[in-house]
Amino acid sequence: MTLAKTLRTPKALADAGLIAAERLPALERVAAQYAVAITPAMADLIDAADPDDPLARQFVPTDAELHVLPEESADPVGDFAHSPVEGIVHRYPDRCLLKVNHACAVYCRFCFRREMVGPEGLRPLSPEALDAAMAHIAERRDIWEVIVTGGDPFILSPRRLRDVMARLGRIDHVKVVRFHTRVPAVEPQTVTGELVAALQAPGKAVYVALHANHAREFTPAARAACARIVDAGIPMLGQTVLLRGVNDDPEILTALMRAFVETRIKPYYLHHGDLAPGTSHLRTTLEEGQALMRAMRGAVSGLCQPTYILDIPGGHGKVPVGPDYLSDDGVQDPAGRRHAYPPKEA
Ligand code: SF4
Repeated sequence: MTLAKTLRTPKALADAGLIAAERLPALERVAAQYAVAITPAMADLIDAADPDDPLARQFVPTDAELHVLPEESADPVGDFAHSPVEGIVHRYPDRCLLKVNHACAVYCRFCFRREMVGPEGLRPLSPEALDAAMAHIAERRDIWEVIVTGGDPFILSPRRLRDVMARLGRIDHVKVVRFHTRVPAVEPQTVTGELVAALQAPGKAVYVALHANHAREFTPAARAACARIVDAGIPMLGQTVLLRGVNDDPEILTALMRAFVETRIKPYYLHHGDLAPGTSHLRTTLEEGQALMRAMRGAVSGLCQPTYILDIPGGHGKVPVGPDYLSDDGVQDPAGRRHAYPPKEA
C-alpha cells in the first residue's frame, strides 16, 4: 500500500514497518543529528523483509551513522572554503553552485552535505541573500555555467524556479544552467508540466542531472517524470554515488547505467563516496571502484560508462580516478591483455 506522506521520524518508520521498534532509541539519536525523510515512492520500493535492501540502505537510518572516523568531516568537499557569498560555492573559474535551499525530498544516509541539509541545516536563502548571490554571478563575467543545487532545487515551487531562471536569464554571460536533483526518481509526481516549463529561459541551455543509485529507482512513474523533462528538450545526465551494499557489484551497477540510458539519461559521474561523517559503512575503497569500472569497460555499451570521480577532500576539486589503461609498455585491453602501442612490426 502506498503511503500518503513522507516518513520523517524513526517512529514513523517503525509504524510503517521499516524498522523494528527496539531500534527506536538508537535511531532517535541518529535522527537528532541527521535529517530523515523517505517519500512514499521510495518507502514503497523498500523490502522490509530484506535486511540488506539497497533502497533501505540509502534512506533508512542506522546506528552505524553514529560511528565517525577521524578523517571524516562536516564539510568533506570544502564548500565553505569556496563560498564568497551565502548560497554560492565558486570553486572553478567558469562555473559556480547556486544553493537556493537546503531541504530535500529524501535525506540520503551518505549525503556529503548532511551537516548542511534538513530542518536543522542551513536556512534557505532570504530574498536579500538571493539578491547578493545573483549579484555575484552577474559581476563575475567568467561564470559560464550555474549549477542549481542545494538541498534539492526541484522541491521549490514552479513559481520560485521561474524566478531563479528569470534572474539567471538576464545575465548574458551565463550560457548554461544545470539542476541537480533526486526528485524525478523519489517524488516523480511533482515533476509536472508547470515545473518543467519553469526550468526554461530564452537563450540558456538547461540540463538536469538526476541522482540515482539503483535500477529499482527507475519505476514507471520515475521514467515518465524523466520523459516529461527530456521531451521538453532538456538533456539529462546521470549521477551516482558508489555505495557499499547498494551498487558495488558489476551486474547491479550495469543495470543502473542501462536504466539511465534507456530513460535517455547519459551517465555522467560515478562519485566515490565522500568522507561525510558516519558514512564509512557505505563507502568502498578506490580499488573496488576501479575494479567495477574495469568490469563494465568492454562488456557494456560506451553510452553506459560514467566517469569515476573523486572530490578531493578539502575543496581541491574533482578528478577522475578510473583505471588507467596506459603504461610504459603499451596499452591494456578490456580483458587485461597488454599490447604495444604503436604495434611492433612483426
Ligand atoms: S538529495 Fe542530495 S543533497 Fe539531499 S540528502 Fe540526498 S544527496 Fe544530500
